[in-house]
Formats: sequence, C-alpha cells, structure tokens
Amino acid sequence: MDKIAVIGAGVSGLSTAQLLLTKGFHPVVFERESVPGGLIKCKRIDGSLFHTCGGHVFNSKRQDVLEWFWSKFQREEEFSKADRNSVVFLDDTGDTIIPYPIENHAYLLDADIQKHFIDDLLTMANAENQYPNNFEDFLRGRFGETLYKLYFQPYNEKVWRRNLRQVPISWLIGKLPMPSVEEIIFNNFNHVEEKTFVHSTFWYEKKDGSQFIANRLADGLDVIYSQDIQHIEYDGHYWHILGGTFDKVIFCGNIKDLVKAIKGVDVSAYSERIETLEYHGTTAVFCEIDKTPYSWIYQPSRNHESHRIICTGNFASSNNDRSMPINRSTATIEFTDKVPMNDIINNLAKMPLHPKYLAHQYNKYTYPIQDNNTRDMIQNLKEFLTPFGFYFTGRFADWEYYNMDVAIGAAIDLVSTLNK
Ligand SMILES: Cc1cc2nc3c(=O)[nH]c(=O)nc-3n(C[C@H](O)[C@H](O)[C@H](O)COP(=O)(O)OP(=O)(O)OC[C@H]3O[C@@H](n4cnc5c(N)ncnc54)[C@H](O)[C@@H]3O)c2cc1C
Repeated sequence: MDKIAVIGAGVSGLSTAQLLLTKGFHPVVFERESVPGGLIKCKRIDGSLFHTCGGHVFNSKRQDVLEWFWSKFQREEEFSKADRNSVVFLDDTGDTIIPYPIENHAYLLDADIQKHFIDDLLTMANAENQYPNNFEDFLRGRFGETLYKLYFQPYNEKVWRRNLRQVPISWLIGKLPMPSVEEIIFNNFNHVEEKTFVHSTFWYEKKDGSQFIANRLADGLDVIYSQDIQHIEYDGHYWHILGGTFDKVIFCGNIKDLVKAIKGVDVSAYSERIETLEYHGTTAVFCEIDKTPYSWIYQPSRNHESHRIICTGNFASSNNDRSMPINRSTATIEFTDKVPMNDIINNLAKMPLHPKYLAHQYNKYTYPIQDNNTRDMIQNLKEFLTPFGFYFTGRFADWEYYNMDVAIGAAIDLVSTLNK
C-alpha cells in the first residue's frame, strides 16, 4: 500500500487525507500546530466562540463537493441553514444601512446620489467594452464613479492597503459580482437580492463553529501534531520526512515553505519568483457588540481601519456564552495586516455597535495576491514535481483565493489523479 505524507491539517490536508484513505492509500498527516484546522480554527473565550480567522460558513456550487462533505456530517442534526443578511454601514453611526451588494440597492440611497448613479449607468451603457487593467479600472467601469467614491474605493483601500491601481485583477474572476448595466437596473427596479454568491445561503455548525469541521475531518486519520516540516528529502525513489519513508508527498502548507523544504530535487529555478509572491494578513478581533440581525457588515468609513464585521454570534446560539446580555452578541472585527493592541482599542472606540474587546489574533497569511504570471508559474512547478511523486494543493500552496469548498474540490481533483 502506498504510504503518502500529507503536510498540513487544514481543510485541504484533512480532506486530501480522508480521500486518500477511501482510495486505499495510507496517509500520514503532519501538522505544525497542536490542533487541526489551519485558518478555520476556533477557540472559546469566556465561553463564547472565537473564529481566530474570519467566521467560516459553508456552501458549494460543486455537487461532488457537497456530496462528499455531507457524507462526513449529519446535515440537519449538526448544521443550520441561513440566508446571508449582509449590509453596508455607510456612516460611522450605523444609521445609514444599505443591503449588500450596494449596486442592487441604489434605490435606497439619497435622491442626489441616485441621480448621479443613473448618469453613471447611462455613461457605462454607452462605453466601449474594455478589459480593465487593474482593480480600480474594474470597479469604476463596472459600478460607476458615484458608487466607486461612496463605497468601493474606501472599502477596498482598507482591505488592500494600497492604491487600487496596483491591485491586479486575475484573482477577481468568480469572486465578485459582475453585473451588467441591464442587471443593475433590473435588480434595482425589482428589489432583487443577490443569489449568485456561493454564500447567499450557507450552512453553519450548531456547535463549535468551523472547528467542528476540522475535528470531524481529522477523525480516523493518522495525524502527527506539533511537527513543523522543514525538510522533505528525495533519494531517487522515496521521500523522507522525520525518519519516515513515503512513496508520495502532498504538501498543503505554504508554497514559500515548500521550495525551501524540498531537498534532492532542484526547485531553485522557482525560488526567487515564489519568494516575491505577495499576500495579506488579517487581524481578527473578537468582540462583544450590540445585537444586530446581520451576518456580515461592510464598513467603508475612513474614520477607522476595520473593513468588516462578521457577526458570528448570530450564526449559532451556542457561539455566545450563556451570560451574554440579550441585546449583545459576539463578532469578529477584521483589520487587514497586523494591527497593534493600542490601535485596535483606538479603532474600536470609533466604530458603531459599541464593540467591547475580548481577544485578538493576527494571521500572517490570509489572502494570497496573484500577479498575471502566478498561475502559470505554479502550474509549471506542479508539472515539474509530479514525476517525483510530489504534489501540492491548498489556499497558500496553490496561491489561490480558495474557499473551504474550493479547497475540498481541489483535493478531490488531485486525489482522483493518483493511482496506486
Ligand atoms: C478571513 C477569511 C475568511 C474566510 N471565510 C470563509 C468562509 O466563510 N467560507 C469558506 O468556505 N472559506 C472561507 N475562507 C477560506 C478558508 O479559510 C480556506 O479555504 C481554507 O481554510 C484553506 O485551507 P487550507 O488547508 O488550504 O489552508 P490552511 O488553513 O492555511 O491550512 C494549512 C495547514 O498546514 C499547516 N502547515 C503549513 N506548513 C506546515 C509545515 N511545514 N509543517 C506542518 N504543518 C504545516 C498549517 O499549520 C495549517 O494548519 C476564509 C478565509 C479567510 C482568510
């Protein structure tokens, strides 16, 4: 039986290992942390559930992913289904609230803003269709100058922390709504809610948030925790990791570590380009806030640095400790990159919903940033390593903006190519 080393016990590594097990392989998973989950890890703070990164919810557009996922869980007993209820807070008080996505709800904006937006739509309808060169061009071209200035620019400058002209657009495909002028007008006339997003409706665990997913997927696997794998050596036939011998390796960590860890196969031609790959981190601040009916709140305000509130306390009643006052709930408040403690506290004081700080965690790698060559370069490296029995998949292995379900889909695709 082929023995396969899987590096990383995030969603990608865990689902890869489960799929390998079903196929009759013998996977051994190595994880540097003491618990499974990677980005989807959660922990309890004062009895309430802190998603240490984001506030993960699940759904998928791929039928095979859904079937595989629900073969691991009891859907109705262990999960609840919810409709996304997301809004944009256009001011700091939380008084001007527009449902998300803002372009479908322009009829709720002030009359003057609506008139400017209608002018924009007329201009856009008559403009020649040009492929945008960068994110700013895309946003202006797709949503018009008025909504760009009101929401898209300030919100995205907080997310990206750079001039939006410097943001490439290849990552966007399939991630953002791409409505035509006709669709925007139709959606406004008919008050149409956005239903094309993968998370327009979503599933959420009744207990323990996304940690529940990680724990279940780790069940029955041979996982070796607290082992940071920095040396993966090929001897011409087999791979050696921590004294163990493997026929194949599937790496589900970060590609920047991958090229440093591989010995015995020369990947130096890729090192420099991989070293320069860009990324963002996120500071996830766990707070108690005033109770709202929302799932996500987008914040374009320039008066503070947080761009999004994920109202995780609304996702499951077990996410709030029993002592939580009825008019309060828990949430993850997100900031791009590393924010020091005193800045966090200063920012919270400027935000709506009276956030009270409970805990925070900075995750260095959360959003991969691609340039126009990233996908080709990574595909080339895959093709180079495959004959040696070395494979990789995952959000930071593939440097792709994967959601959990897409990471599972990529694992399904990879494992389907492996034969004993
Ligand atoms: C803010 C935010 C919100 C998100 N919200 C959602 C959502 O609501 N729904 C959704 O579906 N997706 C969401 N996602 C995406 C989701 O987090 C990812 O798709 C998924 O977690 C990726 O899993 P992964 O296994 O590829 O990577 P990771 O979770 O990064 O896992 C990698 C694992 O490998 C381990 N590792 C790395 N290197 C080594 C090494 N050398 N040795 C040993 N172990 C190693 C790490 O410790 C880690 O456990 C969100 C992402 C972010 C950043």
